[in-house]
Amino acid sequence: MDFEHIVVGAGISGLGAAHFAARAGVPTLVLERSNRIGGCINSHQFANCGDFWTEAGSHTCFNSYGTLISILEDLDQLDRLTPKADGSYRLWRQDQLRPVLSGLHPLEALISLPRLARRSKADASVADYYGAILGRRNYRDLLGPAFQALVCQPADDYPAELLFRRKPRRKDIARKFTFPRGLSEIPAAIARQPEIEVRTAQEIRGIVGDGNGFRIQLTAGDELRCDYLTLAVPPDVAARLLPKHLTNAKAAVDEIAMAEIETLLVAFRVADLDLPAIAGLISVDDAFYSAVSRDFLPDEQYRGFAFHFRPGALDAEAQIGAACHALGARPADVVENAHIGNRLPALRKGHHRTVERLDAALAGTHLAITGNWFYGVSLEDALTRSRQEHQRLFSNRLNG
Ligand SMILES: Cc1cc2nc3c(=O)[nH]c(=O)nc-3n(C[C@H](O)[C@H](O)[C@H](O)COP(=O)(O)OP(=O)(O)OC[C@H]3O[C@@H](n4cnc5c(N)ncnc54)[C@H](O)[C@@H]3O)c2cc1C
Repeated sequence: MDFEHIVVGAGISGLGAAHFAARAGVPTLVLERSNRIGGCINSHQFANCGDFWTEAGSHTCFNSYGTLISILEDLDQLDRLTPKADGSYRLWRQDQLRPVLSGLHPLEALISLPRLARRSKADASVADYYGAILGRRNYRDLLGPAFQALVCQPADDYPAELLFRRKPRRKDIARKFTFPRGLSEIPAAIARQPEIEVRTAQEIRGIVGDGNGFRIQLTAGDELRCDYLTLAVPPDVAARLLPKHLTNAKAAVDEIAMAEIETLLVAFRVADLDLPAIAGLISVDDAFYSAVSRDFLPDEQYRGFAFHFRPGALDAEAQIGAACHALGARPADVVENAHIGNRLPALRKGHHRTVERLDAALAGTHLAITGNWFYGVSLEDALTRSRQEHQRLFSNRLNG
């Protein structure tokens, strides 16, 4: 069967690519391996807690997410934006909840900060850069754990230039926002468009070049042909699926590793938790990197938390024990729990050179590659790449 454009992967990168193509008049088929769309956007609905949900992955959008906001405008979804209540994170260290600033060594920060003017983020790791400008002890006790919590993996070698890139803010939009039923409303709204067809539970066996186009072989035996292809899957999957003749592209993608995250979701009755509302926890020395609460959109009956654990550190029961210990709760009071696997790219300094090599290998082909492993891991970073790749792929059509 023939299609003009096929996207592989129905996370925000793939759905964003489908959205831009559909808006430019290119009908698009999206193939997704799992039986739900959204990838790392996963507003998990607990089976026995009414319509209460907790984010298992992405939890916050900002008014600096211009590409995302433009998509929401296209889809008339701006009236669904729900400001997030302010809440503060706590530091979880030596079995105690502490204010975040308890990890700060002010004198060391004061002495180190003048180095800011002389330091460049280019080609520096997070540990090099922030360790220099705020001091090694501040990095060890506060910034290192905070970055680790942010990217849900050991963060020392992460490229400094890919964290906190300045983007203009939309002042007419809440600084931090979500949706009444969680961020999963975003992929759902994109996928509802008539020009986009999404097929879930699609296992792809391989992709082969066919003239300028591609043939996609599904495990079920079907074969689909397309003129243009967008891969929007993690780098290890992209490297496996890339057609054989694109050897340079494959070599570049092969350089990018992935980090596994074991996410535990727990829900409690409001009355069973003796803990003020919090945004979440930054762990300094426990088996989890961070925890994110659902307190930003309070529910009358339930409270929910997502704990992001290092892979293989604890078994399922011990994870529940560790989460309850940090929250000052009893395991017997957990109303429901769920274990979910998350994955994020483990980017390293010098990453932009890998991206340059990949882009050189893709130039002139009908293949786009997008994802959260180009300019950073945020939803906006992923969509920025999807929009750029869309412009490259369909520039003739857009200009003509
Ligand atoms: C715990 C956590 C918290 C986060 N918090 C935030 C936040 O608050 N704000 C923010 O901006 N960002 C956040 N992020 C980052 C952001 O959510 C992700 O970077 C982004 O959603 C990734 O989108 P993606 O489409 O590139 O990849 P993914 O979401 O990973 O999507 C890839 C898709 O491809 C599918 N796939 C894989 N293999 C195949 C195959 N062979 N065939 C077909 N389909 C396949 C997968 O099933 C998946 O649906 C968070 C991420 C995590 C994990």
